[in-house]
Amino acid sequence: REETIEEFEKQFNELRNKGVKFYEVAVQDLYGHIRGRILKPEKPEDVLKGYRVDAYSIGFLPIEDSDAMLVPDPTTLKVYRTRMGLTAFLMGDLYKDGKPLDISPRTLLREFSRSKNYKVLMGAELEFYLTKNHRPIDDGSYMYLSPYSNNSDFLAEVIIRAEEAGVAISATHHEVGPSQYEILPKARTPLELADEVVFLKKLLWETAYEKGLEATFMPKPFKGLPGNGLHIHVSVHNGERNIAIEEGEITETGKRVVGGLLSYSSTFALLTNPTVNSYKRLAPGFEAPVYISWGRGNRTTMIRLPVGLKGLSGTIEYRLPDPAGNIYLKILSVLYSTVKGLEENLTPPPESNENVFEKNGLPRVPQSLGEAINIAQKSPSLPRDLKKLTEKMVELKTKEWDTYSRIAGNQNPQEITDWEIKEYFFL
Ligand code: GLN
Ligand code: MG
Ligand code: MG
Ligand code: MG
Repeated sequence: REETIEEFEKQFNELRNKGVKFYEVAVQDLYGHIRGRILKPEKPEDVLKGYRVDAYSIGFLPIEDSDAMLVPDPTTLKVYRTRMGLTAFLMGDLYKDGKPLDISPRTLLREFSRSKNYKVLMGAELEFYLTKNHRPIDDGSYMYLSPYSNNSDFLAEVIIRAEEAGVAISATHHEVGPSQYEILPKARTPLELADEVVFLKKLLWETAYEKGLEATFMPKPFKGLPGNGLHIHVSVHNGERNIAIEEGEITETGKRVVGGLLSYSSTFALLTNPTVNSYKRLAPGFEAPVYISWGRGNRTTMIRLPVGLKGLSGTIEYRLPDPAGNIYLKILSVLYSTVKGLEENLTPPPESNENVFEKNGLPRVPQSLGEAINIAQKSPSLPRDLKKLTEKMVELKTKEWDTYSRIAGNQNPQEITDWEIKEYFFL
């Protein structure tokens, strides 16, 4: 901690010389809203000391006892261009009475990572629609490069700003939907990846806003068009060696990871797919998972082993999560499932080689937020902190589900309601 503080003081002075005036200190609440305060500090201490927040208004604490402290983590410092000029961005951790808040997702992810000896790396594919007045702005589809249907100027701007902030983007492409895109941050430790995905969402919003556009991560913004996924790529390492996939072939270790992800997918759907709208994405025909299954180059299965070149280290691609909601909760649940698979030798059922949208007798992923809540309530023994967090999510999400059910009534469940657009378009 002392070394990082010294390092931060140095960076602070350098940034002042570069003209950085404003610091955003952020936290993602349990719903996934990126919140925070904009500071105009005189000295490093003004940033580091943190500040008091009303943790009731962001879902964490009861109103009678709602004071918490948001303390920035100096290792998360990223500097990017915004309407405020060159701006510093930091993720913070919540503290209550001098101790880390026990239901803070970022804290739990950090502590869980530290408590385990496995070296797990994760990558992500962040999908979004680029819109104007909430409508798509081009009619391109998968990997279009034509200038008439590809917003390459926007993408280039995002990638350059990300790189300036120290976030390496390995690739980008037009996705299947009209003005739907995907960017790929490189593989990292789970905590670093979560911090980067949150930062990239913020960066995409800011850059779109400057151009009179919007970026939405809503899981299914448009009926009949593909949804937005946040596929997570998992690998397990021993030193430099990837021990989940070797020579392009899944190992026994890799199979346990698949086993863990499969067996906990429904339990944690409330965390990986936390909105009413999330379950409208999980319908056949849009390359989103519907059945609890795994396969190789198969985009109908929930887990896929991307087919690569022999000798290159591969990953296990978990396709269930979407990009709406609290990213730390998603990554935490993926990490927990991975570790459980390894610790308990969970072996997966046979893989699926056929199109599982068409023919199968496989168990389905939850069909609605209501179902995900019910499954989470009956969840197997989880460690105390994770159990407490799940209970909190059940409480918050039950209210959300009830509100939606009242509004939507008996209408066609495929329909996207105005209420969802209002609640989730900028989540
Ligand atoms: N958009 C799809 C999803 O919802 C994924 C499509 C793809 O990556 N080819 O997960
Ligand atoms: Mg992809
Ligand atoms: Mg994709
Ligand atoms: Mg993918």
